[in-house]
Amino acid sequence: VASVQGLTRRFGERTVLDRLDLEVARGEFIALLGRSGSGKSTLLRALAGLDGEAEGGLSVTGSVAVAFQEPRLVPWKRVHANITLGLAVPNPKENADAALAEVGLSERAGAWPLTLSGGEAQRASLARALVREPDLLLLDEPFSALDALTRITIHQLVLQLWSAHRPSVLLVTHDVDEALLLADRVLVLDAGRIAHESVISAERPRHRDHPDLTSLRTTL
Ligand code: ATP
Ligand code: MG
Repeated sequence: VASVQGLTRRFGERTVLDRLDLEVARGEFIALLGRSGSGKSTLLRALAGLDGEAEGGLSVTGSVAVAFQEPRLVPWKRVHANITLGLAVPNPKENADAALAEVGLSERAGAWPLTLSGGEAQRASLARALVREPDLLLLDEPFSALDALTRITIHQLVLQLWSAHRPSVLLVTHDVDEALLLADRVLVLDAGRIAHESVISAERPRHRDHPDLTSLRTTL
């Protein structure tokens, strides 16, 4: 669904993405790891078509939805209206209700975004992305502000939704266990390129003693 060839992004003198290559196959779940500042969000912005200044080849087929690192809800619209914003489907309200229920946020549907907790805002942002049923779902650390219990629930939810709709997912995370739990393929971004790749076996559930864990930890 997405193909990146020789993507380069400079900010002034700094080259953040340096001739990066990446193929995202239909339906695969990729986790993207990398140090803070390595360019993960920059890559996601380019894939989302939000960066007009990236150089190189980039093609995405189908629809894309993003859950940003900061939830970016529109503050003067209630949570429910944020989910349906720009949503072109026959029953936007019903779909938004369903998406909010899926992320466990039905009770906060009528709330103002600024009154949400960090984790609630992240879940609203996730619901806004899910409701679009994208071919490519870009998730930029969407679970970082969640408590451990909600995170487990959301992991299960994401896996369920992924199995049901089979979007391609590119998930940015700092959590190696999360990457191994969710993804088919774990990539590490370093020095502007994909510096490491691990293909995770298709068997679920994944285990903490996965052999790739050690090698990934050393890479990080
Ligand atoms: P984190 O894990 O902290 O979210 P990241 O891997 O997502 O980090 P990016 O946000 O992609 O990192 O940023 C990569 C580098 O590019 C950083 O050094 C950042 O300061 C720089 N950068 C990003 N956007 C801009 C911008 N608009 N102008 C100048 N520099 C930028
Ligand atoms: Mg980032």
